[in-house]
Amino acid sequence: MQKEQKTAIVWFRNDLRVADNFSLSRAREENGRVVGIYCLDPRHFAPTPYGFPKTNKFRARFILESLEELREQLLRINISLVVINDTPENSIPDWVKRLDASVIYSQREWTQEEVEIYVKLRTALPASVRFEETYDQFLYHPGDCPFELSAIPKVFTVFRKKCEKQAHVRPMASAPKIQETTNRLSNVPEIPTLSDLGFKDFETDRRTAFPFKGGEVQAGKRLNQYFFETKKLGFYKKTRNGLLGTGYSSKFSPWLALGCISPRQIYWAVKEFEKKHYKNQSTYWLIFELIWRDFFKYISLKHGNQIFHLGGILNKAYPWDSSLLSLEKWINGETAEPFVNANMMELKLTGWMSNRGRQNVASYLARDMNVDWRLGAAYFESMLIDYDVHSNYGNWMYVAGVGNDPRDRKFNVRLQADRHDPQGKFQNLWLQKTLF
Ligand code: FAD
Repeated sequence: MQKEQKTAIVWFRNDLRVADNFSLSRAREENGRVVGIYCLDPRHFAPTPYGFPKTNKFRARFILESLEELREQLLRINISLVVINDTPENSIPDWVKRLDASVIYSQREWTQEEVEIYVKLRTALPASVRFEETYDQFLYHPGDCPFELSAIPKVFTVFRKKCEKQAHVRPMASAPKIQETTNRLSNVPEIPTLSDLGFKDFETDRRTAFPFKGGEVQAGKRLNQYFFETKKLGFYKKTRNGLLGTGYSSKFSPWLALGCISPRQIYWAVKEFEKKHYKNQSTYWLIFELIWRDFFKYISLKHGNQIFHLGGILNKAYPWDSSLLSLEKWINGETAEPFVNANMMELKLTGWMSNRGRQNVASYLARDMNVDWRLGAAYFESMLIDYDVHSNYGNWMYVAGVGNDPRDRKFNVRLQADRHDPQGKFQNLWLQKTLF
């Protein structure tokens, strides 16, 4: 068939961007017409057995904002984005028929729920529809990783050192070519609203560390601000354990999790900064953290569903408590530790918590309260704007002592509060009774 006649669908999942998106660029290269589809899968918003939804309002709003921007960015190259409030297997087959599409491009996901959805979709489509999946969420592409999957080391430093020596970060994908205006769809349905997803409109508490807004353009703005306008990147290593304000860390994680920005884009921007301004330990450290992000993806690739098991990848047994009462105390900031409580209030009211905060509250739940760490992970999954299955479950296992921490440490939250919040400013901000 002639290229001009073929229609391709790009099924967007956690890759909500136009720039540096291999699926999109390839789809444009190889087909006459491209249409984008995203499904707001109701299963992602369903209640969990613990009394909170699988996705809460903060991330729901961030996703919708990201879709608005994706739609605008795609329209600039005359590609339409169809956003559907239904499961992929129920909705995409109709669109395949309507568009007479022969191929679906998407980012490859490998965790159980994502694979099940993929399989259901494939089963609901004629065998003639081809799938083209790409790993597009890594800094070091799996094709370039210097380890066999089965030999991914348990210790991060071993992984990092070999990757730094032997792997390389690929160049960004070429910009997708603009298509003919006539290839735009007419009558594209409106993007669902927060209330379509079952949430009320809301204002985020004004104490929030960052006014997060979803979308590729917003991600680019933040990068520009953090790197080039304020040059905060140059101090990152000194400030990254902070708790208060916009500047202590990059705040890239929500955009990274949804793929509004890629780790490659960040990497190459750091290189640009180093060329233009200077290179120091801080500029390196941001890349170091992106390697952590990759590490947990490789751990989940290697271990599959074990990352969701109580004994984690170590198969370790501890006397866990699965009392929902203890969980509730932790969620509502009603533990014996003000530092834990302040962090939990921040999460509850904003969908955000610093890395230092996360390490402490997770350690406290798992190692002091001895609560089944997976309940804490499920709450984070619900609440975090930046929820990412690999980083969340990888970090939880690490802190709970069933993952990749070779030293099996427990956080002393009192000492941590003294060190990271010596004047109690953070705790005062979140524990004062005044309503904001
Ligand atoms: P920065 O400090 O500016 O770091 C830059 C980027 O590096 C981050 O955006 C992130 O992509 C990556 N990164 C930094 N630290 C880590 C880390 N420990 N693990 C993996 N990647 C890292 N991060 C998520 O993105 N989603 C999650 O669901 C998530 N759950 C977590 C749960 C627990 C219990 C803990 C301890 C950590 C979790 N993290 C998670 C990791 C980390 O806390 C956040 O990535 C970080 O706080 C995001 O802030 P930032 O973008 O300003 O990070």
